Amino acid sequence: MKLRSKDLRQTPPSLSSVGRRRFLATGFLAGAAGLAPAALKAQGAVEPEFHWRMATSWPPNFPIFEHGALRFAANVRTMSGGRMQIEVDPASKHKAPFGVFDLVREGHYQMGHSCSYYWKGKDPAMTTLAATPFGMNAQEQNAWFWYGGGTALMNKVYERHGLLSFNAGNTAVQMGGWFRKEIKSLDDLRGLKMRIPGLAGDVLARVGATPVNIPAGELYTSLEKNVIDALEWVGPHLDLSMGFQKVADYYYTGWHEPGTELQYLFNKESYEALPSDIKAILQVAMKESSFDMLCESVYKNTMTWAEMARDYPRVKVRQFPAEVIRELRRQTSIVLDELAGESPLLAEVLDSQREFLARARQWTAISDREYLRVRT
Ligand code: CA
Repeated sequence: MKLRSKDLRQTPPSLSSVGRRRFLATGFLAGAAGLAPAALKAQGAVEPEFHWRMATSWPPNFPIFEHGALRFAANVRTMSGGRMQIEVDPASKHKAPFGVFDLVREGHYQMGHSCSYYWKGKDPAMTTLAATPFGMNAQEQNAWFWYGGGTALMNKVYERHGLLSFNAGNTAVQMGGWFRKEIKSLDDLRGLKMRIPGLAGDVLARVGATPVNIPAGELYTSLEKNVIDALEWVGPHLDLSMGFQKVADYYYTGWHEPGTELQYLFNKESYEALPSDIKAILQVAMKESSFDMLCESVYKNTMTWAEMARDYPRVKVRQFPAEVIRELRRQTSIVLDELAGESPLLAEVLDSQREFLARARQWTAISDREYLRVRT
């Protein structure tokens, strides 16, 4: 279903028949404010010129992720003086947490809030646009996106699908995940069924594990019922809220997602039909939201880790053995080279990321790493 620019005004384009009936029955703004449009006008309120809908990959009100999307929508509404209103639909509403790419591409939604590494099956060039095992941390990756040509390369990839993508916020370093049994050698990974999406899942498969991807809402039950042996999610704050510490004892440090970047996904035609002032508002709101999510992630993980260590002394933090890390690093490089051989565009993205990381590695080694060493 294609969008036309004239569709952008007055009604959300390409709604399903159910959605359209709901829209017509309630009126978008009137429904939100509990007032008929005429009453709003009489109060001097601005009627939105742009009614948009955003599909997210997250459960309703999910901390940090869904909150980031809601914060963005609220900022856009305020900064545009009410000219633009974005309704945020969590995955429970549109029923397709891993279908956000298609929902936006096909015009059912004008935009989405999700993560590039869910789409490696759609286009291998998207594989390293969220996080790369043993790759850049949040600070380095933000530098690459905003100043190192990363955003332009990302959109070279997404444009081929009628989409655009912009940074939505970074989780910072993610933990390596929850394991019910201790990992003492590479042998312990063989046959292990683990929820771990993206490239890291491909890497684990090379050492004999079985990677799976499961929507957020089903993770706890899957681990509790032994459908999976291990999982990774994010870090202490979000992990604690999911309850994983109640069903697994070993919490491993990270290697696979050193700084995962979420994304705002746009239907390209919808975005480009917007006037330049609204586009500028969206860009500023996205950058604010991106910065805010990184700050919130670091703050909440800091505070929650202390709480988890106090309330769940049974939880043991572990590092993967050196032989495991060595092999995961080696396999990451092999998998990336193979994928790049199949996708010239991934090769272009990867070249840019590797070139930047080669420089960033040197600088980070004498700046942050040395500082952290002396601070202890
Ligand atoms: Ca993760």
